[in-house]
Amino acid sequence: MTDRELPLVGVLAVQGDVREHLRALEAGGARAVGVRRPAEVAAVDALVIPGGESTTIDKLTRAFELREPILDRLRGGMPAYGSCAGMILLSDRVEDAIAGQQSFGGIDMTVRRNAFGRQVDSFEEDLAVEGVPGGPVRAVFIRAPWVERVGEQVQVLARHEGRIVAVRQGALLATAFHPEITGDTRVHRLFVDVVAHHLRRRGEAPVGAPVSAQFSTKGT
Ligand code: GLN
Repeated sequence: MTDRELPLVGVLAVQGDVREHLRALEAGGARAVGVRRPAEVAAVDALVIPGGESTTIDKLTRAFELREPILDRLRGGMPAYGSCAGMILLSDRVEDAIAGQQSFGGIDMTVRRNAFGRQVDSFEEDLAVEGVPGGPVRAVFIRAPWVERVGEQVQVLARHEGRIVAVRQGALLATAFHPEITGDTRVHRLFVDVVAHHLRRRGEAPVGAPVSAQFSTKGT
């Protein structure tokens, strides 16, 4: 496989742990690029929404006029993966949101912001994640949400003490934890496989354009 045949996965680069996702995606078999302009949203095969602060990512996404382009792509079936704040942004319903906070939605679920954070700010746990071979994943939770309810289309991939913390609905994936910061790239590999499968099903080749210099990730 040449480099150009690898899926091109964007990481929404307005706030959050963008670099960590870029690295994990590359290790997981994709080309990866920061996305902060509408034209860049149009140019990628898939999008990762990083961990960070969902309220800030929401505000900046609107300020940078990225919200509508992202919603259009999601409606068109673009695969996406969200970790932590990214999970909140991919959720159809958000509990304990701040006034005016919006998500993109896409996954038929209700998440509660900072749900674990009310008990303890951060913790780690080895979790079995469905679809990830090779044993448990080290899951790092930082002021993490949990999933309170899921619709019928949603597959639960992992739980922590009974709480749903990883889900998939079609080509949309979300985790309450941060695999991007552990050096274990299996969750990203799972997402890249979802993206590749999605492109094959649609009969689309990955975006052939070389990664241009404008997709800089500086300053994230
Ligand atoms: N609590 C944050 C939020 O509401 C998410 C934290 C994280 O991404 N680590 O967006």
